[in-house]
Amino acid sequence: MGPLKRAFLTAISHGKKIGYRNMSISAAAEELHPKHASGITFELNETQAEFQELARKFTAEEIIPVAAEHDRTGEFPWEIIKKAHAVGLMNGHIPAFCGGLEMGVFDGCIVAEQLAYGCTGIMTALEASGLGQTPVLVAGNKEQKKKYLGRLVEEPLLAAYCVTEPGAGSDVSGVKTKAVKKGDEYIINGQKMWITNGGVANWYFVLARTDLDPKAPTGKAFTGFIVERDTPGLTPGRKEINMGQRASDTRGITFEDVRVPKENVLIGEGAGFRIAMETFDKTRPPVAAGATGLAQRCLDEASKYALERKTFGVPIAYHQAVAFLLADMAIGTEVSRLAWQRSAWEIDQGRKNTYYASIAKALAADVANKNATDAVQIFGGNGFNSEYPVEKLMRDAKIYQIYEGTAQIQRMIVSREVLERAKRGL
Ligand SMILES: Cc1cc2nc3c(=O)[nH]c(=O)nc-3n(C[C@H](O)[C@H](O)[C@H](O)COP(=O)(O)OP(=O)(O)OC[C@H]3O[C@@H](n4cnc5c(N)ncnc54)[C@H](O)[C@@H]3O)c2cc1C
Repeated sequence: MGPLKRAFLTAISHGKKIGYRNMSISAAAEELHPKHASGITFELNETQAEFQELARKFTAEEIIPVAAEHDRTGEFPWEIIKKAHAVGLMNGHIPAFCGGLEMGVFDGCIVAEQLAYGCTGIMTALEASGLGQTPVLVAGNKEQKKKYLGRLVEEPLLAAYCVTEPGAGSDVSGVKTKAVKKGDEYIINGQKMWITNGGVANWYFVLARTDLDPKAPTGKAFTGFIVERDTPGLTPGRKEINMGQRASDTRGITFEDVRVPKENVLIGEGAGFRIAMETFDKTRPPVAAGATGLAQRCLDEASKYALERKTFGVPIAYHQAVAFLLADMAIGTEVSRLAWQRSAWEIDQGRKNTYYASIAKALAADVANKNATDAVQIFGGNGFNSEYPVEKLMRDAKIYQIYEGTAQIQRMIVSREVLERAKRGL
């Protein structure tokens, strides 16, 4: 165990020893926030700051030097995954009884933003494993968690989230893959599409229809399964050639009479849709944090370039039109960061955060795209060329408006909540 992992576990057990419930409120507040008893603080605690620094250093030393090459070749970044696993930058959310660090969503987002700064393709490979694990985290029983999450702590293995199909993306209720119970097993048949880590995962979360009556309500028709990669009949397709985030592995997956033991059902028949949706409350904040990392990278690359490149006798940064582009990039980045922080903090308090998670995901994705386009603009002709870093950022940014719920789906979620409140007169 590395020194940071040890420090983190000590911090957790120290927190338990303090026993806040037995203290007076003012003493507990003083203990929790010695200098900020008024309630809000933007300061990271010592452990969070250490993790942020570890992730920043890892990104600078291990990711940035190889990002362009992975983008060019599309080679999966196994070496980086092994190193990230060894230093404790993966799977932070896994519970302590499975050997994990039991970090909060907020803590995971701090790491996600730093890694994404280096390459969002590589970060997506790591993040999609978290997406695959989260259904087990939110709905798995003790044995399932120990077996499948524990395995990922012990070895640098990955998980994947298999929900989307060729005919069902935004409309998850259109999923056609079916699972039929036969004795102590379920037999799964169907076709999944766009599965990140599809060809490299050790196991998958799979959503399948178990109530074949087309009139069955969505909330009862689907079931979530854990499916081992090496189960006969499960075949990943070819690696898709995507516009950006090319280091990540996206594939279709075919299920032909795939037999899954009933012990691998999450919660029970009919719980699948709710599990698949609840997962996003924990995974959209880190996606928003990733988009914020990309937005920050655009700002940093463009600021540096604007001070170096001269036109009309001065650095282009001194032309107000360019300086104001940088200012707007900074405004967007800061607000995106606040948005992921709020959404992650809400769920760590044990509160429903769907509204905040959708706001953060929608905003950060749009800002990442705007910043990337403006960074290319500031680089001029060089921005359009792969010798410079910003054309990759522009290609990588686009997917943030599509995966884990499109820009339109996030706005549907936010507007639904706004109108619900208005109807209740809140
Ligand atoms: C690189 C990549 C990685 C991915 N990784 C995964 C993964 O790991 N696991 C997984 O399960 N899926 C994954 N996906 C799938 C992704 O989540 C879907 O592509 C996404 O949800 C959109 O679904 P769709 O592609 O079917 O588009 P559609 O649902 O067909 O949407 C097409 C367009 O119509 C709009 N639209 C649809 N319905 C509405 C509506 N009601 N109102 C307004 N506009 C609407 C959408 O916003 C979009 O602009 C990935 C996709 C990509 C490209």
